[in-house]
Amino acid sequence: MSLIRLSDEQIELRDRARAFVDDVLIPREESAERAGGRLPSSDVGEIMKAALAARLNGGRHSVEHGGQGWSATDYVVVHEQFGRNTNGLWWWVPDAYNVLSAGTPDQISRYLRPALLGEGWVSYAVTEEYAGSDPSGISTVAERVGDRWRLDGEKWFVTSGDVAAVHIVVALAEDAGPTLFLVDAEADGVEYLDDPPFTHSFPHGHPTLHLNGVLVGDDAVLGGLGQADALQQNWFVEERLGIAAHCVGAMGRLLEEAVAWAAEREQGGSRLIDHQGVAFPLADSAADAAAARLMVYEVAALADAGADRKVVHAKASLAKLFASEAAWRCADRAVQTFGGRGYMRTNVAERYLRELRVDRIWEGTSEIQRLIIARAMERRGVRQVIA
Ligand SMILES: Cc1cc2nc3c(=O)[nH]c(=O)nc-3n(C[C@H](O)[C@H](O)[C@H](O)COP(=O)(O)OP(=O)(O)OC[C@H]3O[C@@H](n4cnc5c(N)ncnc54)[C@H](O)[C@@H]3O)c2cc1C
Repeated sequence: MSLIRLSDEQIELRDRARAFVDDVLIPREESAERAGGRLPSSDVGEIMKAALAARLNGGRHSVEHGGQGWSATDYVVVHEQFGRNTNGLWWWVPDAYNVLSAGTPDQISRYLRPALLGEGWVSYAVTEEYAGSDPSGISTVAERVGDRWRLDGEKWFVTSGDVAAVHIVVALAEDAGPTLFLVDAEADGVEYLDDPPFTHSFPHGHPTLHLNGVLVGDDAVLGGLGQADALQQNWFVEERLGIAAHCVGAMGRLLEEAVAWAAEREQGGSRLIDHQGVAFPLADSAADAAAARLMVYEVAALADAGADRKVVHAKASLAKLFASEAAWRCADRAVQTFGGRGYMRTNVAERYLRELRVDRIWEGTSEIQRLIIARAMERRGVRQVIA
């Protein structure tokens, strides 16, 4: 029984995604961890093939563009399941940032369609050395040179930048302001400065890219000159909701594993779960998981019902803030439940403890989510945000 009502189609979708995670991803977690996150190409091929067969690729993209045409609720149904997996193995499910759907027919057939089939990764490069939480500080420029644009700048933390066929680059276009440009990874002047190791063991890197006088034509402009900020608003809502849904899935998996362990292992003459000191933190985790889940599905339902975009934006921040902070608390409690085993990288709780940390940082840190929520309460009223 759940207050969250799913249609028969959504239940079938959830079960399909769950089977993919259980049968294809979870069995590969430990080998991915032992290999620093990078699986052999044969495993990657099998994951991608299974994802396509299960019709989990390109979920939010339209059927016309090669996606599945999911609603926001369908999307969280699937991403809750993806969150039950460590090492970000779900990242191998072919997909692409939603801003690409604003492309011209030519851009859609060159970049979006192949990406949704797993035939070309796309990265999204906004962050710079001196512009992170405040992207208005970016200094990458696009200058007009004849009938082309010349891009100069440096981008940090470019997820999948090491494997992408094309980078979506935010640059300040002369006279137009922040604009998205599609830059082929092999273009002259695209230099890879560094591919640093990060806390998590992830399928792809987050390299630093240098754009050194990269020349592109008008056909590289995505969604129109000066449109980057408007296009990114929709991207943020989707990405933040997706992160919150992953965190809900992670909390569910952590609880399943930790409760099973606590109910089986005995110390001091009784099962761990019979020690109040072990049971109470698990109960607190259940409260965190259940509350986060309600928030995530409520935001998705509001988005599907066509609610005010600004209210949905604020509520997506609320869900991301709460779910990401709750999930990390749950991982920490689960590590404690497993004791010394919880400190081994072969243990699911240990992996989650490292991996969930970034959910409080990327797509806007917890502090930035708090700023958005506080401003929304001031401008739109408290009830609009919490009710
Ligand atoms: C693994 C990983 C992958 C990433 N992938 C991508 C990607 O694909 N594309 C991309 O463009 N970026 C990516 N990022 C970058 C990410 O979005 C930024 O790291 C994030 O937005 C924070 O920016 P920053 O690191 O510059 O920190 P800063 O902005 O310098 O913030 C540092 C600290 O100060 C706080 N702070 C900053 N401003 C305020 C304020 N006004 N009020 C209160 N506190 C504040 C922050 O919350 C944070 O705690 C990735 C980052 C990581 C770690």
